[in-house]
Amino acid sequence: MSTLIIEGLRAAVDGSEILKGVDLEVPAGEVHAVMGPNGSGKSTLSHVIAGRPGYEVLGGSVRIDDVELLDKPTWQRAEAGLFLAMQYPTEVPGVALRDLLSASVRTPEDPAEIGERMRIEAERIGFGSQFLERPLNVDLSGGEKKRNETLQLGVLRPTFAILDELDSGLDVDALRMVSQRVEEETQEHGLGVLAITHYSRLFEQLKPDVVHVFADGRIQESGGPELATELEETGYERWVTAPAAASAGLPDDPFADPLA
Ligand code: ADP
Ligand code: MG
Repeated sequence: MSTLIIEGLRAAVDGSEILKGVDLEVPAGEVHAVMGPNGSGKSTLSHVIAGRPGYEVLGGSVRIDDVELLDKPTWQRAEAGLFLAMQYPTEVPGVALRDLLSASVRTPEDPAEIGERMRIEAERIGFGSQFLERPLNVDLSGGEKKRNETLQLGVLRPTFAILDELDSGLDVDALRMVSQRVEEETQEHGLGVLAITHYSRLFEQLKPDVVHVFADGRIQESGGPELATELEETGYERWVTAPAAASAGLPDDPFADPLA
C-alpha cells in the first residue's frame, strides 16, 4: 500500500517563505483534512506538491513511497499517481475535456472503455455529458468547474488526490454528490486524499481519518474528525500568532480614534 510523504517542506514565493516545514503522511485509502485561515499557505502547499511553476522550494521532500516528486515535472508527478483539484481550475480554450482525459489516462487502455468511464462518471456526479465536448472549464460556473475536477479524478483514478477547496462554489446537492463520489473512490480504489477546506460540511460524506490545523506555514496540530467541528466553532485564533493587520503595521482597529 502506498503512502504520500511530505517531510520538512519549505517553499517561498516572491522572496517570502510561505511553507515553513510541513510534515504530513497520507496512507492510501485515508482522508486527511487540512484546515486553516485564509492566506496561511494551503494553496501554496497544494501547488508546490503538484509542481506549479513560480515557487522556490527551499528544502524538504515530497514522495510517493520512495519516489521523490520534487525533482520531477508536473506530468511525471501525475504519472506517479498524484492528482490536484485546483481551488481555481484553469480554463483551457481549444482543449475538450474528452481529449484531455483520453490523453491523460495513466496506462494505455482501450479508448472505448475510457469513453464509457467518462459517461459513467458524469452520471455519478450529475454532470451533463455535453461538457465532455466543450473546452476545458471555459465559461463554466464555479460549481461546474468543481464537478469537472471530480469527474477527472473519477476517470483518471489517481493514487493520491489533493482537493483544494473542492467545496467552494458548490450548492448543497452538488456538494453531497461530489464529496460522496470522492469518499467512494477511497473505498473502491484505495484513493488517499488531502482535503483542504474551511468548512466541516465537506466531511458529512467524505469521512476524514485525521484533521490537521494548518497555520503560519506548517501543521500546528492534528486530531480526529471532531477537530473539524471544533475549528468551525472556535476559529483559528489559537494558532494565529500575528494578526494580518498587526504584521502589516496597521492599528488593530482602523476605525479607532487616533487621539483617544
Ligand atoms: P491559502 O490558500 O491558505 O488561503 P495561499 O497559499 O493562497 O493561502 O497564500 C499564502 C500567502 O502567499 C498569501 O499571503 C498570498 O498572498 C501569498 N502568495 C501566494 N501566491 C503568491 C504569488 N504568486 N505571488 C505573491 N504572493 C503569493
Ligand atoms: Mg487557498
